[in-house]
Amino acid sequence: MRATILYGPGDVRVEDRPRPVIEQPTDAIIRVEAACVCGSDLWPYRGVADYGPAAAMGHEYVGVVEAVGDAVQQIKPGDFTVGSFMASDGACEICASGYQSRCAVGLRVRGAQAEYLRVPLADGTLVATPGMPDAVLVPSLLTASDVLGTGWFAAAAAEVGPGKTVAVVGDGAVGLLGVLAAGRLGAERIIAMSRNPARQALATAFGATEIVTERGDDAVARVKELTGGLGAHSVIEAVGTQEAVEQAIHACRPGGHVGFVGLGHEVKLNGLDLFYAGVHLHGGPAPVRRFLPELIRLIWERAINPGLVFDLTLPLEQAPAAYKAMDQRQAVKALLLP
Ligand SMILES: [Zn+2]
Ligand SMILES: [Zn+2]
Repeated sequence: MRATILYGPGDVRVEDRPRPVIEQPTDAIIRVEAACVCGSDLWPYRGVADYGPAAAMGHEYVGVVEAVGDAVQQIKPGDFTVGSFMASDGACEICASGYQSRCAVGLRVRGAQAEYLRVPLADGTLVATPGMPDAVLVPSLLTASDVLGTGWFAAAAAEVGPGKTVAVVGDGAVGLLGVLAAGRLGAERIIAMSRNPARQALATAFGATEIVTERGDDAVARVKELTGGLGAHSVIEAVGTQEAVEQAIHACRPGGHVGFVGLGHEVKLNGLDLFYAGVHLHGGPAPVRRFLPELIRLIWERAINPGLVFDLTLPLEQAPAAYKAMDQRQAVKALLLP
């Protein structure tokens, strides 16, 4: 089969690899119908993170189940499924509490930018759709695998709700879908932070009521100005850089909530600054599996259209071009069709 392999910074190739097989009785093998490039894939692509030599890339996927191990009971061959980027057993105390991405026996899903994928812990990881989806729903279902679920978790972690003002730091796919989630969760005002006209338009389409184009301290000042000097009730942090995390904490009012889902690389928090901010901080790798049934339902009923974040669709064979476009911010998010 064809699969996307990262050899080192900037060096991603599509190559022949053996088709995955059932290794554990809890595994499923799916034929990938659509996959995509994640912002987090850009960390090893840029050499900021090291995935080791010849890393099989991709963790966002939808596909049809080809085979299941002997212990799999909920998922069956022929099901069209959406799965989280983290495999979870759905049975431990951490899963039961809704934090499946930190499952006590959890594993990363890797190698989804390929024709076939082995999904560990299939029963706890995959959710079958009500039937075979129309082609038009596939991109939206694919977002549920990570970016939509992550944006949703960020909004939930930031305690978004009716009557609240929400600020969103980050105009990538997760930030934009955080805007969508905030709207669905009843936010009264949603302040999106972006200086890119195309992304501003998408944020507005997803429900943003105001756009802030400033960055850093200027952005914080602007959010304060828009909120009577207090700051937002809820802030979604969807970048993971030092500047973005500080911006999120400072844009939040005392007693407010910051939901952080940007993968923080070398972010350092100043203790005194944090102390006086007086905000709730909650985040981490999103327990996408918690939200999948509800997100699939909303997409199936065409109540939301998160698939709009894909502004580039390429055949799997052109995965290197997809990475390049996202790295250079020419694309918000690239969908790959095996
Ligand atoms: Zn991802
Ligand atoms: Zn678990």
